[in-house]
Amino acid sequence: MDERVRELLRRIPSMEILLSEEWVAPFEKIIGRQAVKNIFSDIIGSLRKSLLEGTTISIDVDLIRRTARERIAKASARSLVPVVNATGVVIHTNLGRSCLCESALKAVLECASSYSTLEYDRSSGERGYRNDHVEWLLTQVTGADAALVVNNNAGAVILCLSALSSGKDAIVSRGELVEIGGSFRIPEIMSASGTRLVEVGTTNRTHLRDYEAAITETTAMLVKIHPSNFRIVGFHSEVPREDLAFLAREKGLIFLEDLGSGFLLDPGSFGLKGENSVRECIMAGVDLVTFSGDKMLGGPQAGIIAGRSQLIEKLKRHPLMRALRPDKMTLAALEATLRENLSGNAEAIPTIKMISADKNAILQKARRLCRYLRTRCPSFTFSTIPVQDAVGGGSYPEIPLEGYGVSVAHPGISAGELQEKLREGEIPVVAAVKEDALRIHVRTLKDGDFEKIRCALARIAAEREAKGNEAS
Ligand SMILES: *Cc1c(COP(=O)(O)O)cnc(C)c1O
Repeated sequence: MDERVRELLRRIPSMEILLSEEWVAPFEKIIGRQAVKNIFSDIIGSLRKSLLEGTTISIDVDLIRRTARERIAKASARSLVPVVNATGVVIHTNLGRSCLCESALKAVLECASSYSTLEYDRSSGERGYRNDHVEWLLTQVTGADAALVVNNNAGAVILCLSALSSGKDAIVSRGELVEIGGSFRIPEIMSASGTRLVEVGTTNRTHLRDYEAAITETTAMLVKIHPSNFRIVGFHSEVPREDLAFLAREKGLIFLEDLGSGFLLDPGSFGLKGENSVRECIMAGVDLVTFSGDKMLGGPQAGIIAGRSQLIEKLKRHPLMRALRPDKMTLAALEATLRENLSGNAEAIPTIKMISADKNAILQKARRLCRYLRTRCPSFTFSTIPVQDAVGGGSYPEIPLEGYGVSVAHPGISAGELQEKLREGEIPVVAAVKEDALRIHVRTLKDGDFEKIRCALARIAAEREAKGNEAS
């Protein structure tokens, strides 16, 4: 080894020296001494390696210290934290989809902090079933005979296919072989569950006769999938679900529909024409409908299967059920959310409230935010503007929601820079940039968010001022 490299290696501060620096102690209290040591040794180790490989040719002790401090500080801060959703996308997949309603929050807190009746039958004092807390409620809000809750909707589809069609064929229209949210691809889900996918029709048109012609003695199911984030417009036709239900009945097959969003209320009341509620699907003769708990239902992450009791019974007994079962917090939140629906109090559910918000009320909210910020953050300029919001959750791309927002500008800070700084604050504010302006969409702001936005802007202005003073 060359003497120069040996000399550089000697200049890397030792673990003892690093650990004894005064800024380290407070972090040790948060993540423990061993974790701090591990971060230091990662940094020292990769520096040694690059010195030996010749990719690094100098040692900057200050840089080592700064790098270590940044990494240790990051590891010491909470990672999964609330954010302000200023994007106007209601069911924002990256920001956790739906916020729970008050009664769901209360139920989660109570059942998580105490023992509960999760699998306990109070009348007999014997073992109960966790699904029983929500099954009856689900039959009431969907019109189905029976229902089952699993971890998420992808799990619901996999369970249905594995239990009812494994080793057999499932027929799907080529117009519905979609990918949803990156990792949910219908063909892959089919093969993971041991079902042979039989594609029929074409991307834009599939007819009843296409399904009929594909049915053989190995067919178990007809499957209809909501294309969610994708629309075919123009020369297009699909088979009405009533006709598929009739065909399935006639041939002794199961008709499964993956609805994804799953409305319990009338989609028309949200301006979503051409969509169907879960109840409508059940009434049209679908045997099993699957949908998410945290999309249009506005509850916790869950997959819900509603349909015929004889099929639901089979699903309940399948070994995969044990791996896909929901936990008590999910069930507590779901029960409370379903009860809000049943009592006609759907407005209490944040997702429903935000999607159905009145345009004029949104305008008033934008004006209020504009006034609030104008008087408190004088170095910025604000104006109320019309914006396009979205349902989100990979749903209804063709139906933009008309909303309002506040456009924010600061002399000397670009919109992109502003967006980044807002995102990186203590309470992250996730805002949009369009036409070179930062936009705060107000539809998705919750109580208390005005103040959080003010705080974030005030911090950016203060930083800016400090920098300006430094420079002059
Ligand atoms: C969202 C969606 C899924 C996946 O649901 P998760 O709850 O994310 O597992 C599956 N199918 C459709 C049609 C969807 O819209």
